[in-house]
Order: sequence, then C-alpha cells, then structure tokens
Amino acid sequence: MKLIFISGGVISGIGKGISAASIGLLLKKHSINVSFLKCDPYINVDAGTMNPIEHGEVFVLDDGYEIDMDGGHYERFTDISLSKYNSITTGQIYSQVIKNERNLKYDGACVEVIPHIREEIITRIKESYDSHDVLIIEIGGTVGEYQNDIYYEAERYLKQKLGADLLHIHIGYLPVPNSIGEMKTKPTQQSVILLNQRGIFPDIIIGRSEKTIDSIRKKKISIATNVGEENIFSNIDVNSIYKVPKLFYSQKLDLRIIELLNLKSQKIDFSDWDNLIKKIDNTPKQSINIGIIAKYHTSGKFSLEDSYVSVIEAIKSACWELNIAFKLKWIDAENFSEKDISSCDGFIVPGGFGKRGIDGKIKAIKYARENNKPYLGLCLGMQLAAIEFAKNVCSIKDANSEEVDEFAKNKIIHIMPEQEKKLLDKNYGGSMRLGAWKCVLEKNTLAYKSYNKSQISERHRHRYEFNNSYEEIFEKNGMIFSGKSIDGNLVEIMELKEHPFFVGVQFHPELKSRPLSPHPLFSKFISVIIEQNGTI
Ligand code: GLN
Repeated sequence: MKLIFISGGVISGIGKGISAASIGLLLKKHSINVSFLKCDPYINVDAGTMNPIEHGEVFVLDDGYEIDMDGGHYERFTDISLSKYNSITTGQIYSQVIKNERNLKYDGACVEVIPHIREEIITRIKESYDSHDVLIIEIGGTVGEYQNDIYYEAERYLKQKLGADLLHIHIGYLPVPNSIGEMKTKPTQQSVILLNQRGIFPDIIIGRSEKTIDSIRKKKISIATNVGEENIFSNIDVNSIYKVPKLFYSQKLDLRIIELLNLKSQKIDFSDWDNLIKKIDNTPKQSINIGIIAKYHTSGKFSLEDSYVSVIEAIKSACWELNIAFKLKWIDAENFSEKDISSCDGFIVPGGFGKRGIDGKIKAIKYARENNKPYLGLCLGMQLAAIEFAKNVCSIKDANSEEVDEFAKNKIIHIMPEQEKKLLDKNYGGSMRLGAWKCVLEKNTLAYKSYNKSQISERHRHRYEFNNSYEEIFEKNGMIFSGKSIDGNLVEIMELKEHPFFVGVQFHPELKSRPLSPHPLFSKFISVIIEQNGTI
C-alpha cells in the first residue's frame, strides 16, 4: 500500500484540496493509478445535511454519495469519477464502531477511541486504497485541532508498518505581513511542530505564499523541520487554481514524490493543460453578464462562491472554451429590482431548498421567458420554471411546489410516494433522488442539439419531481419535455419551443463539467447568449 497524507497548517483554506487534486493529476499523467480519500472530522455522516452557507456546496457523486466541495476539485482536476470510498467522516466511523459494538463484534472488549476508532479509520483507508497504486489522503481542517487528531493517530500507526511507502505532505503558511514586507516562516515551523507532537514527520513541505520561497527561507524551514531543502516546494498565489498542477510540475514535485514512493515516472504530456491555461489567460474582447439568482449568501466561514462552486466552474469552463469573458451578477433572490436584472444577458437559477427566495426567483424566470433571455434552470431552477409557466402561461393561478405549500391545489412539483414515507418519519438524510440517472433525449430539441446524443447520464439531488398530470396542458402551451428517465416516468428536462434558450433540468449538470471538457448545456447556454449579443 502506498499512501500520501496531506495536512494543512495555521489557516483553513490554505489549498489542501487543490494541492491534493493537482498532485493526483500529475501522478495520473505518469500512468499511476491514483485515488483520493477525504477525511472529514465532522460528526455528520455525510455532507448532505449541511447548509451550503455553513460548509460550501454539497457535491454529489455518481453513486449518490454526498461529499463536500473538495470532491468537486478532485473530479475536475483528474476526471476520475469518485464514489463513497473516496470520503470518510468521523460520524461514519463512530456509527460503524457503535454498530459493531451492538453486534458483539469486539468479543466483549471495552470499546475505545484507541484502538477501535483508529482501527476503523485504517479499515476504511484499506478499502479505499483497494487496487490503486497510490491513495492520496487529505485530512480535513488544520493540524492542532482537537477534532482531527484521530486521523493523524491512524497515520502515525500506519507509518510503523508502511515506512517509506507512506509519505506526508504538509501545506504550510508563509505570510508576508504588510508591516514587515518579509516572508515569515514561523507559522510553518510551528505547524510542523504540531505534526511532530502527533508523531508525524513530514517528508515534503509545500509553502503557501504570495511569492516563491527563496533559498534563505528554505534553509530556515529545513533547519527547523528536518525536511530537506530539496523537499520544500512553493505554491504561490495564482489567478486560477488550474495553474497549480503546472506550478508543481515546473518544480518537479511529481518526480520527487515518485522517487520517494519508489514508483515509475514517464515522460508526460502537459499540452492539454497548457492549452487550458492559454485559454484562461486570453483576454477576450467581448464580455457577457450572467445573472445568478441565489439565496445562499455570504455568511460565516464560507462565501457565496463556495455555495455554488460547481456552477461557477461550469460557467468558467464553457466561457474559456468559447473565448468570451463574463461577469457574474449575484442577484439576491429576496431583494432585487428590475434594474438589477435588465443588465443581464442570461440567467441561471441554481439548486436550492426551502421556501425562502422562491417568489424572487420566479419573478426573474418570468423576466427571462418574456424577454427572450437565455435561461438555464438547475434542479430547483427547473421546478420554478415549471411553476412560473403554469401560473403565467397556462393560467393555473395557485400553481406551486409541494415543498413550498403542501396544501396547494395545483402541485406542479410534488413528492414521489416512496420519498413521502421517509419525510413523514423525519428521515431527511438520504431521502432524496440522488446520484446518476440515465435520461433519454427527444430528437430535434435544444437538449438533443446540445448533447448530440440520445442517452445521457446526469447526477441528481432532490426530493420533488414534476407532476406528470400537468404534462398535457404544458405541451399544449408550448413546453417540450425533451428529456425523460428511461421508464418515461420522470421529467428530467423541459424547454420552451418558442424561445432562444429556456431550458430547465431536474439534475445538476454542473457536477459533470470539467475544465478540459465543459458541459454541453452550459456551452450551449453561453453560445446562445453570444449569438444574441451579435458577437459571433
Ligand atoms: N428543493 C428541491 C427538491 O428537493 C430542489 C433541490 C435542488 O435544487 N437540488 O426537489
């Protein structure tokens, strides 16, 4: 078993996820079969029950597992499809150990954090490693926090058996305080001391800083931490996270890891990423404004961008591909005027839950429909497009979603019977349609033209569905159901016949967009905006 542990020091948001994803990409380019494991120290069994304001976006995998936003970085950088084996939380570990204890699996032993919790973590690491060449394990949080200590303990214990096959990479902080104007190494020295106190001696340090670490600072860090200067690398601030793999590659971090882990290197081709970077650095003459009507606004540790990171990345990738600059206009669903939306060239209503902000989103959708402005509705965005259409085109005045008003007479969006029981039992975790579902596309539709194939697979995360009893009246009024589940029972995509681009999807296409292969629906949405603006 060959493992790379990644830890971070001093501050959160130091870039552990991006570093892990970049290292994964580099190793993959050397034909090393790499996988990931994110260890999250929270008690939640998965990220699914967390409000995005608190914890950033929930990233859904093909198997329906709900992971936090680092999963998105891993997939976008490496194009590997992750599964439940790529994430563990403290909640899962403890519930498994408690379940084992109740099932008398410990032969009457007194069940304790050490060894039993530690053993359970190691079992999960082994499962996750499976038949890969290397498993990259990112320990959530920063070293020194009470809550992630047990993961370091599991690593310490594994190191006894694995020796040189276990590598620890520490991401250290190297601030340049304004008042001093000099790069300071103490924060990194001190976070390494915290690691050492836990019996961990890092092999490689990656310094997060504004500028490259000079040789004087490298020496200081090396003397204080016992990490050789040749094993200290820089991760400087760059204007795009997709530049980090090249940054590591140019410092030969990949070769260093390969040597230390006794793996085989090969000549790698970086042209695809070089091309991407070229596109990112292009300065297109034209720019478009995309309005995102959202409600998970900045609060606490996480920002609005974190709540919608995959949507933003999907827009970026499509715009880079089409060589167009864009501005995101964040429109607060609860408080905006017509002036705020009239400067937008296209609109997105992303996923969301609950009643708050619904009316504003419907108002913006009406504006897009009536003014022929391209509209892409993602999950809730499709549901609300259906309600707006029912109300304002089909004249179904009290049209609503069961999520908003369970007593509404016309529930255009309703709960599926199998989900209803779970909700009655207040069993909210895992009570949704989750993960990849196949969808059949109707020929001669915008959806078909975007994907250019008749069957697709997309990821879902929702409790409510389009109510098929309204299909007929919708069709009569010009709505096309251009995508349906294989059995034809579930509406997956709807689009307006007489509109340049008015498409709602019950799934989350943003989760499958990659920087090297933008999602076809986002590309189509952006290209219709460009066409409308007369720029191509
Ligand atoms: N709240 C809606 C539902 O549960 C939509 C969910 C979403 O947008 N992901 O069906």
